[in-house]
Amino acid sequence: ATPTALLAATGRGARLGILVSGAPALERLRKVDTVVLDKTGTLTTGRMNVTAVTVSADADADADARAGAGGHARVGAAEALRLAAAVEQGSEHPLARAIVAHARRQADGHPLPRPVRFAAVPGSGVSALVDGEEVAVTRPGELGGIPDDLREAVRTAETAGHTAVLVRVGGAPRAVISVGDTLRPDAYRAVEHLRRLGLRPVLATGDREATARAIAGQLGITEIHAEALPEDKAALVTTLQGHGSRVAVVGDGVNDAAALAAADLGIAMGGGTDVAIGAADVTLVREDIQALPDAVRLARHTLATIR
Ligand code: ADP
Ligand code: MG
Repeated sequence: ATPTALLAATGRGARLGILVSGAPALERLRKVDTVVLDKTGTLTTGRMNVTAVTVSADADADADARAGAGGHARVGAAEALRLAAAVEQGSEHPLARAIVAHARRQADGHPLPRPVRFAAVPGSGVSALVDGEEVAVTRPGELGGIPDDLREAVRTAETAGHTAVLVRVGGAPRAVISVGDTLRPDAYRAVEHLRRLGLRPVLATGDREATARAIAGQLGITEIHAEALPEDKAALVTTLQGHGSRVAVVGDGVNDAAALAAADLGIAMGGGTDVAIGAADVTLVREDIQALPDAVRLARHTLATIR
């Protein structure tokens, strides 16, 4: 490959909003046959909105009992939202941003409490002490252990393609916050285009099966890996490679970094976290997923010309 031709390709890529780390990355991009796509922030805009806050009647009864012992008199929807948002102030996750923004709007200028001992588990959730109470906001996990009304709220959210997170206060499940996301306007076309280029699209998400299905269904993606923790996404890449596939991963989050590094080619969304961009070989600067098939075409064309 002549340096001039590669430089030209890199320049053309840059104009298309595709930043390639170098010639080896272009070469690997040309050979990719499978594309593992993250959901939140990659196929969807990651600009999320709180669509519902459901508190459990059971939790209220329990809280009333504890009130006598100096606990909260009641965990109403506003209080559940306030506690959850206090914790989420420490997270960069799109879910966290939605919950904090929603709580601020509801709080009428009242500042959110400061969390202490904040901890985040990528792909799982966050926790902290708020007003002396242990508050955790996480994926719902096994639905068997939560009250009926919260389980119902989770199902309703997921059927709509929304994400439901569970709020625990003092370890007890108190509320479900439903957060809606929107597909990127060009996602359908981009996935269709990838298929026409002979690439096999695979959806990998930390989100739950029902939510993943609702989103994948809108894109015609049939291969889904849901409830994937960061290490599961990386293991999926290794498994696909073990079956002889050349795998590109497209992601935006801290939770995608391991998979991006394991892939034959890591592709980060430009608006993604620094960790994702640092782990990737290619960055899609403009926030459009259509840049991905464009990048594949560019790589194939460039290297065909050079040879
Ligand atoms: P995705 O693969 O869709 O980008 P993640 O792997 O980042 O999703 O997260 C997987 C799941 O973990 C989310 O659907 C959510 O249930 C939970 N989660 C992750 N981060 C947070 C957070 N900051 N607050 C609440 N829940 C979170
Ligand atoms: Mg993501």
